[in-house]
Amino acid sequence: MKAISIIGFPKSGKTTVCEIITSGLCNRGYTVGSIKDIQSDFVFDYNPTSNKQKLEDAQQVTIRSLSETDILYQSMLPVNLILKHYDQDFVILEDIVECNAPRIITAISEQDILELTDNLVIAVSGIFANQHDGEINGLPIFNALEHSDSLVDFVIENAFEPLPNFDAECCSACGYSCREMAELIAHHKALHSDCILSNQRVELLINDKPIKMVPFVQNILRNAVMGVVSELQGYAKNSNIKVRFKL
Ligand code: SF4
Repeated sequence: MKAISIIGFPKSGKTTVCEIITSGLCNRGYTVGSIKDIQSDFVFDYNPTSNKQKLEDAQQVTIRSLSETDILYQSMLPVNLILKHYDQDFVILEDIVECNAPRIITAISEQDILELTDNLVIAVSGIFANQHDGEINGLPIFNALEHSDSLVDFVIENAFEPLPNFDAECCSACGYSCREMAELIAHHKALHSDCILSNQRVELLINDKPIKMVPFVQNILRNAVMGVVSELQGYAKNSNIKVRFKL
């Protein structure tokens, strides 16, 4: 699952760019998810006359109708945790800055671009791009209204699976922080496979979803399993070992 963030000030064309990328990817046969950060105290008001108290008391609520299913958490979840619920080909992150994924900024003016540019930014679009073309500060400019195909091509080529956000004490196996490595990948100065989590020696699946583990957690799990398994009949060196739990 690859992701890209669209970041911009209000009325800079952010939602339009998200919609154009989403429909362009869908038209090419990709599955697409989206996450939008509203940055306010918005809550989903399901049915205030009869259910409000129940919704407030529960930590998690699911509302299922004939046309959709809404799972509500009563807190603001970290984006990396939300992403575990997604298995589409691409996820479009609107106004999400806490994710180690590449970014396209939408801007009205050069001043906006200066304020929003950081090392994860790889392109400029939005209102500014409707009146300019070429590059600015080394970043390509995409007019999403007139050249939507080029923008979608660019997303397909440049989006990548977000890196985790581990502390340096937890993992620095690539020689960088996760954020620094994401910046290098965004600018094609490193490969996603340079993150050690891309080549895990120990695989863990929870409900069939692979779980990323830093090397020391892989070692703990491996040593715990091997400590038991290596004493059992049927074990031989270099055996392929699978453990499944049914809870
Ligand atoms: S190897 Fe991967 S998880 Fe570890 S610090 Fe580098 S990018 Fe982060």
